[in-house]
Amino acid sequence: MITFRPRYEMSARDHDLAGIRDAVAKLCASFPMEYWRETDRERRYPTEFVRALTQAGWLSCLIPEQYGGAGLGLTAAAAVLEEIQRSGANGAACHAQMYTMGTVLRHCSEAQKKRYLPGIAKGELRLQAFGVTEPSAGTDTSSIRTTAARKGDRWVVNGQKVWTSRAEHSDLMLLLARTAPRDEARRTEGMSVFIVDMKSALGRGLTIRPIRTMINHATTEVFIENLEIPAENLVGEEGKGFRYIIDGMNAERILIGAECIGDARWFLAKATAYASERKVFGRPIGQNQGVQFPIARAHMATEAAALMVARSATLYDEHKPCGPEANMAKQLAAEASWQAGDMCLQTHGGFGFAEEYDIERKFRETRLYQIAPISTNLVLCYIAEHVLHLPRSY
Ligand SMILES: Cc1cc2nc3c(=O)[nH]c(=O)nc-3n(C[C@H](O)[C@H](O)[C@H](O)COP(=O)(O)OP(=O)(O)OC[C@H]3O[C@@H](n4cnc5c(N)ncnc54)[C@H](O)[C@@H]3O)c2cc1C
Repeated sequence: MITFRPRYEMSARDHDLAGIRDAVAKLCASFPMEYWRETDRERRYPTEFVRALTQAGWLSCLIPEQYGGAGLGLTAAAAVLEEIQRSGANGAACHAQMYTMGTVLRHCSEAQKKRYLPGIAKGELRLQAFGVTEPSAGTDTSSIRTTAARKGDRWVVNGQKVWTSRAEHSDLMLLLARTAPRDEARRTEGMSVFIVDMKSALGRGLTIRPIRTMINHATTEVFIENLEIPAENLVGEEGKGFRYIIDGMNAERILIGAECIGDARWFLAKATAYASERKVFGRPIGQNQGVQFPIARAHMATEAAALMVARSATLYDEHKPCGPEANMAKQLAAEASWQAGDMCLQTHGGFGFAEEYDIERKFRETRLYQIAPISTNLVLCYIAEHVLHLPRSY
């Protein structure tokens, strides 16, 4: 397959990232496409892949050096995830370990960082679960019903989370719960973030039930009944959790944007190679403009979105406000990957449906990013209200 790398991509920034990209690409090459087909078919967690990434240090690349990580920024983490997707793999099995760092590094106490980060950096602990969504609170996070009540030196948590991905494969979870009733005037106040030690909580108030989905995503429902959490597991200040989660969410949107760029580039490489090789009516199908133009359009959409992903990651790394850019990056990249996926399927004709071409799997996987971690409509609502100052619509 042709490895598609646009010439102008090697800016100074990308030059610094070239070593990271090459190393991640080499690691991914040791996991052939059959590995991903098999894990997808069986809905099996890709433990071997996650272990290899952990051992190579990539999943802890955002953890500062004093805690045993590589101390890299979000720009570098985005390059890691983009490269994973570009290789045809599925980084969704482990990407949360990076985006949860948006909350942990900025808002956990020194004691919490010392307690958890070295273990995460060594691969002894996994922080892969992010418990925000609830059955009655998806898009509207402020209406979550899971509560945490202070009782002496503990918090007692009750409620339910849904779509908590990787919960069965994680030692720790960042959990958002209400610690004060919802006040209509200040809807996002009164929520707090906790670090939950899931292994000790299992069977003591925490129950996990897997949800089978159209993709291999290890997602679950989490039931919480009188779960006791030590008081020191509260992150930052009580009641300010939404703000802390937003830092995690901006990181998440940027990283998912990068994954979508990786997917889009994988689809583009695959389609370009096939369009050049496949002969119909005695000539390569890629000689027809009807086949070329959708490839060219998908390429342009991908490159434009990649610029927004890079811009938002830079702002994030500089600790500058990046909400609009993170949202735009995620949306533009998710649309570009979907456009590229659709184009790739069309370019392959019937063969695109065959499992062994991997297109149908990537097509399913990349579709998620128009729904999660935030749906396209809600990004549009955010841009309309917060950037264009149109009236709030929800
Ligand atoms: C595979 C998978 C993995 C996930 N992993 C996690 C995870 O690890 N942790 C976690 O916390 N969550 C996770 N999620 C949840 C995900 O973030 C939510 O599904 C997403 O935020 C949308 O919420 P919802 O599904 O409740 O949709 P709803 O909020 O019910 O919305 C349904 C539809 O209505 C539209 N809509 C709603 N309100 C408006 C409005 N005012 N204007 C216009 N349109 C509107 C939405 O855009 C959407 O298309 C995951 C979801 C999936 C499918």
